Amino acid sequence: MKTITRIATDVGWLPVSFTNVYFVGRPGGKWVLVDAGLPNSAHEIIDAAEARFGAGSRPESIILTHGHRDHSGSALALAENWGVPIYAHRLEIPFLTGKSPYPPADPTVGGATAFLSRFLPRSTPNLERYIRELEPSKVPGATNWKWIATPGHSPGHIVLFRNSDRILIAGDAIVTANMDSWSGLISGTQQLSRPPTPFTIDWPAARASVKEMAKLKPNVIGCGHGVPISDPALPERMHAFAANFRAPRRGRYVRRAARADENGIVDLPPAPFDPVPLATAAALLFLGVAVGSGYLDEQKKG
Ligand SMILES: [Zn+2]
Ligand SMILES: [Zn+2]
Repeated sequence: MKTITRIATDVGWLPVSFTNVYFVGRPGGKWVLVDAGLPNSAHEIIDAAEARFGAGSRPESIILTHGHRDHSGSALALAENWGVPIYAHRLEIPFLTGKSPYPPADPTVGGATAFLSRFLPRSTPNLERYIRELEPSKVPGATNWKWIATPGHSPGHIVLFRNSDRILIAGDAIVTANMDSWSGLISGTQQLSRPPTPFTIDWPAARASVKEMAKLKPNVIGCGHGVPISDPALPERMHAFAANFRAPRRGRYVRRAARADENGIVDLPPAPFDPVPLATAAALLFLGVAVGSGYLDEQKKG
């Protein structure tokens, strides 16, 4: 079983597959779960939580930094198991109640995650029975923490921050692994990096959000992807990262952002030409023709 790693006295980090979840609170006291991992991660999260907080322990709430499938996938199973509410920003709720799909990923933006995004399902769970809107600045179940709207990666993205020890739980508003490079994705080398590119739908907003986070001067950053960073020089590193922040050179959402409101998608830039599915389709067509004509049977016999 994977165990929770402490990144502050009362903040635990658990990587579940390629997404991170965080546990905020002390054993014996109230705690909350931040993000809920991919689908089918509930058991892993519950086991780790019970190892830290005791058998049968349950959080006050589940807080979602945003609703992408890799962060909300096990939210329903966990909420049902624990009987607790799930909180998200108002602008994220239409994507979690079946009202609207997320803007589609842009596989043409370039890089490793963009390539892989072609093969990831777009659907998100319907959390209607458990989802609640976050009230201004309050984090239910976690006193001394505040949430800050950090749109760009998704319309209702939030980060959590505690001023006393300057710890930032940043979701995908920034990540600590270079997900655009295959080596960065595989090695997991710690590196402040822009939000996962194919899923980021508003780059000027994403940049403004990074600037907001840099102003917080965090000492510790735990993100949705990558190993958390704790470094006395982190405020300067964040400052430099924000100053040099670059959107990708090209991509569906680079020139023009997607727009959304409390009902979901309002406006999308036109779909880009993606040659890869075409190549895949051509290969399948060839295979279909080959099977249909008995070409492969002939080959087998030969
Ligand atoms: Zn995301
Ligand atoms: Zn993510």
